[in-house]
Amino acid sequence: MTTTPEKTSVQTPLTAPGEILHTGAADYPGLDEWRRLPIRQQPDWRDHPDFDSAVDELSSNPPLVFAGEVDKLKRRLAKVASGEAFLLQGGDCAETFAGATADKISARVKTLLQMAVVLTYGASLPVVKMGRMAGQFAKPRSSDMETRGDVTLPSFRGEIINGFDFTEDSRIPDPKRMVRAYNTSAATLNLVRAFTEGGFADLRAVQQWNKGFMDNPAHARYESIAGEIDRAVRFMEACGADFDALKRTEFYAAHEALLLDYERALTRIDSRTGEPYVTSGHFVWIGERTRELDGAHVDYLSRVHNPLGVKLGPKTTVEDLLALIEKLDPQREPGRLTFITRMGAKNIREKLPPLVEAVRDSGAKVVWVTDPMHGNTITAKNGYKTRQFDDVMDEVRGFFEVHRSLGTYPGGLHVEMTGDDVAECLGGSDIIDESAFDARYESLCDPRLNHKQSLEMAFLVAEALTQ
Ligand code: PEP
Ligand code: MN
Repeated sequence: MTTTPEKTSVQTPLTAPGEILHTGAADYPGLDEWRRLPIRQQPDWRDHPDFDSAVDELSSNPPLVFAGEVDKLKRRLAKVASGEAFLLQGGDCAETFAGATADKISARVKTLLQMAVVLTYGASLPVVKMGRMAGQFAKPRSSDMETRGDVTLPSFRGEIINGFDFTEDSRIPDPKRMVRAYNTSAATLNLVRAFTEGGFADLRAVQQWNKGFMDNPAHARYESIAGEIDRAVRFMEACGADFDALKRTEFYAAHEALLLDYERALTRIDSRTGEPYVTSGHFVWIGERTRELDGAHVDYLSRVHNPLGVKLGPKTTVEDLLALIEKLDPQREPGRLTFITRMGAKNIREKLPPLVEAVRDSGAKVVWVTDPMHGNTITAKNGYKTRQFDDVMDEVRGFFEVHRSLGTYPGGLHVEMTGDDVAECLGGSDIIDESAFDARYESLCDPRLNHKQSLEMAFLVAEALTQ
């Protein structure tokens, strides 16, 4: 245990808008149970001379998000679970400190908002918008060590833990990076809040937004849907609709709750209810590699009140799923649990139906989301990790088909994307091929859809939703 009870228990409650108070969580019963359980994918850094001071600093810093916002999101997700809204989650595989610039953040938010407008039209339902942002810094790895030539070093685990450069210095885990990740997340959230609450998200700007898409060969294919959205917006404007809902939008922050030293240090007690919340982001998910039932991650997250995601790969069994529900959502609280399936285009039509049926029959009201990225990763001929746009779309289609045939609700989309003109995934109407990777592959981890590919996906999903 690294946070001293004395320090955090005397911490002054923080006042947020709406008089929501949070206090430290040093003594809350059960929150340290995870430390006694098997845990995967963590750095071995407890003996590092800077570990205690980094954790102490995080423990006394202000929360990045507030319990009232988190509860509101849960109510929104309850609407998704009942088929009255759609969820869009998107952003980098791994955020970077250098990537937290105003230009890159605004491009990403703008692309997500554009996708959301298209999906809102396609679904004729509100879209809950969520960035893999402001905290998506820790990565699970398939191997602890990486070898290049005759040099073997610790694998890169995300910039919250170590550096990407393949040198001994950079690969040694450094707990001070958690503080930098916190500060970078705070700066990112600050910008996101300004954009989405300060008029940047004005729906009437959709016309300009579409202009960015016009030079895409796919534009012609979507012209009619884009034109209809445009006409609908202009009609509302002509009617004098000047309501705030057109100008502002709710936008939530999400990340994988992988690094438990960080999540624990940012856990606070909501003074309204006395319940613990992870305040590092509104929504957190448990990855495919850390969702074992008796492991530390499932235990820790079962004790906080945020809405939770769990990634489900093709090996997921019905028993796993029912036990996860029992552990993470024993009260069957609508909006609490989101299952993010990442089966691969080849598996989804076969593997998903029994899982959806079992959950439906159990009476649990979960949100079903498709992550069509992680089951479709391949290595390109020139060695880059990539994905084919067509495989990604095929998994999305499979997801819709399965839910349609079972009469259940396909609630959302989870994608790795960016607002920039990168070349990381293959295909799309404005075709990206491997030859572009050397110049325009920027991701430190998994390949993302670029701006045009992201919009194209939104149009294709909107088509699927209107069918
Ligand atoms: C991710 O979302 O980047 C990730 C590692 O996913 P998964 O847990 O599904 O492998
Ligand atoms: Mn990824």
